[in-house]
Amino acid sequence: MVAAPPVFRFAPSPNGLLHLGHAASALMNADLAAASGGRLLLRLEDIDPVRCTPELEAMLLEDVAWLGVPFETPVRRQSEHFDDYRAALDVLVAEGLAYPAFMTRGEIRRHAAAFEAREGRPWPLDPDGAPLYPALDRSRGGRERKLKIASGAPFAWRLDMTAALRRLGRPLAFLETGGGEAIEIAAEPALWGDVVLARRETPTSYHLSVVVDDALQGITHVVRGRDLLASTSVHRVLQALLALPVPVYRHHDLVLGPDGRKLSKSRGDVALRTLREAGLSPADIRRMVGLTAPEPATPSASGPTGASIER
Ligand code: GLU
Repeated sequence: MVAAPPVFRFAPSPNGLLHLGHAASALMNADLAAASGGRLLLRLEDIDPVRCTPELEAMLLEDVAWLGVPFETPVRRQSEHFDDYRAALDVLVAEGLAYPAFMTRGEIRRHAAAFEAREGRPWPLDPDGAPLYPALDRSRGGRERKLKIASGAPFAWRLDMTAALRRLGRPLAFLETGGGEAIEIAAEPALWGDVVLARRETPTSYHLSVVVDDALQGITHVVRGRDLLASTSVHRVLQALLALPVPVYRHHDLVLGPDGRKLSKSRGDVALRTLREAGLSPADIRRMVGLTAPEPATPSASGPTGASIER
């Protein structure tokens, strides 16, 4: 029997211009796919209808093509697959593992501040620095929930992490190859508390749609920035609850800006098109993100950035 080829994906969100960090992910996925005789898929993670626009998507596709990243078509656009995420959410709701959460971000912050003033100790934060969701809504009875929903109160669906971990009843882990050797990393999902699975304005969430799509697209290798390493713990829980296959993970070093901080779309950092317009070539971009060129290197233009790879 011939083994199926590995399947990689580059999964950017068209909510800003691609920068050097995205280039690192895209090129690394392309190199690993080429070296292993694997496939490379492009997935547009455009679940946010406000921040993701057709103009940004067109620029993203142009930037990826300019970089020379050879992805297969058709491209999967998450906004065209909300039914798939809804079906996964329905499973979790039916199993009693998701509940309607009525507190707004402001209410959560105020709840945390009141706790800290009262108890004199900090309210726990998730790995991204957001306050964990308070337990209040988790314990509401079915009738109270129905009444609140019927009254038109807006809510998000959240995972009941405590119930989910109790249901699974075993520690979870994933295989990480980012450091060279494959090592098993223990998942720490409890650090995230009750993560959002779907919101009113966005009928899914990053965590839910990423695990559903990685499974539906048969992704065997997830290669992405180290800033998403902590999220993998949430992904492992959702994969286990939904009986989805588990890819191998590789979280690569982040490309840092001249100030040593992570690049961000919102700070307008070193957009690929700015570098291209300044005369840099795709080979220059490869070098800037610390990848060796697969073909003979072309002479480097000096770029308007002091970006470096974090080791
Ligand atoms: N869409 C995410 C981003 O642009 C990446 C998701 C992933 O690779 O899992 O940061």
